[in-house]
Amino acid sequence: MSSLIYKKKILHFSGMDLSDLAKGNKTPFFVYSEDILVHNYTSFYEGAKKAGIRKPLVCFAMKSNPNKELVSILADLGSGADIVSGGELKRALEAGIPSEKIVFSGVGKTKEEIDYALTVSKKGIFSFNVESLEELELINECAKKHKREARICFRLNPVVKALTHKNISTGNKTHKFGLLEKDVYDSLGKAKYWSHSKLVGLSVHIGSQLLDLKATKKAVIKLCEVALKTKAPLEFLDVGGGLGVDYHPSESSKMPAIDDYMTLVSTTLEKYYYTKTDNVPRVVFEPGRRIVAKAGIFVMSVLRNKISEKNHFLIVDGGMNDFMRPSLYGAYHGLTPVKEAKNATNCHVVGPICETSDCFGSDRKLPKMSAGELLVLEDTGAYGYSMGSNYNLRGRPLEILINKKKKIKTINKAQPYEDLT
Ligand SMILES: *Cc1c(COP(=O)(O)O)cnc(C)c1O
Repeated sequence: MSSLIYKKKILHFSGMDLSDLAKGNKTPFFVYSEDILVHNYTSFYEGAKKAGIRKPLVCFAMKSNPNKELVSILADLGSGADIVSGGELKRALEAGIPSEKIVFSGVGKTKEEIDYALTVSKKGIFSFNVESLEELELINECAKKHKREARICFRLNPVVKALTHKNISTGNKTHKFGLLEKDVYDSLGKAKYWSHSKLVGLSVHIGSQLLDLKATKKAVIKLCEVALKTKAPLEFLDVGGGLGVDYHPSESSKMPAIDDYMTLVSTTLEKYYYTKTDNVPRVVFEPGRRIVAKAGIFVMSVLRNKISEKNHFLIVDGGMNDFMRPSLYGAYHGLTPVKEAKNATNCHVVGPICETSDCFGSDRKLPKMSAGELLVLEDTGAYGYSMGSNYNLRGRPLEILINKKKKIKTINKAQPYEDLT
């Protein structure tokens, strides 16, 4: 689905004229499309069904975009949630995701967060995805205190190297994530872990923005092997998230199609697990980026031009505090002017933050733009607003939604000075 197109020389997103949109809304702001969000979720879920995945449960990774309105759209479609904090748990519930569809990941769950998740409803959450034996012991103690049984899933460290940025790779020994195979076996049968806990699943998540599925396949094979060895009648196998998107045009040919990804997961699970046991666990997915990255853009205004000899800086009103990926990971994001024009020149698109890394793109070919003109940073729906901050004491930006009736809705107000703490 192509979501950004020029009509009569004006850029439209999801059918909406962006110059019109900016008339009533102060830049910079995020815009999301309900149509694209729904399309992405539905193709993911339907793709799983089509590939013969057993009773798929898609748990949206809340950290990619926890906006309540967006999460409630996903909740209505049947989505669950992958959470990493008590705040995300509260948000998921408020957005209408039932507790029985929530998996809790993360290496640093606190006692308060564990208590909250255990007592959130009669049944508690779908699972604690446990990342260390100390954590397991604590969860068991908390469950004992509340007279509950905690549902446990081990996050396995499959010891594979995922080909992605080093800061978003998670599946190897040197990473803090997941348990080594031997720790999983060592824990089984020890009462201090299991008096009030039950092993119900096994998971892997090897990193984010994965475009090459070789490591994914290896990780799923490892998941199957360890799952067979645990001998517990597991209720589910969780293959994690991480499926990438094409931020750069050169990535579009590399980007795995949903159907190919699902076929790989399905055939691997069949071959290495289902054919070797009578047990039929369901399959859990934890996608974030693939669902929401392309459902959002970031609209900025040009503040001014600045020429330093051969360097042409285009200074915009959005900054790295609003959208961090380029400064944090050197990530590429497309930059497209709202008014179509020719005669491109090379420029560096920079924000107002007092950091050299506050740059959305170096040596980009853009037409000459003057103060007040609009520029779009593409594919900012995931790890955008959620990673933002108040750095330089800037208020958080506005978020708006183009809903399925093509109506505009403010889903998060711009933060005024009074609210800055
Ligand atoms: C971040 C994360 C995800 C989601 O990753 P995406 O790349 O956004 O799909 C899924 N599971 C876990 C455990 C995570 O930490």
